[in-house]
Amino acid sequence: MNCPKCQKRTNVIDTRRSLGGGSVYRIRKCPRCGFSFRTLETKLRFEEKEARRDA
Ligand SMILES: [Zn+2]
Repeated sequence: MNCPKCQKRTNVIDTRRSLGGGSVYRIRKCPRCGFSFRTLETKLRFEEKEARRDA
């Protein structure tokens, strides 16, 4: 996932499973501008995004 501010690829700082384990929170931070944000992703979406990282 890219930074919404500068479009640079962000680093995942932390990953937390939500209740029930069906989705995950990821805390991401942009190494360029320092912008940090959280994403809530379902497990399927999570795996889709991982598979697309090199695209
Ligand atoms: Zn940024």
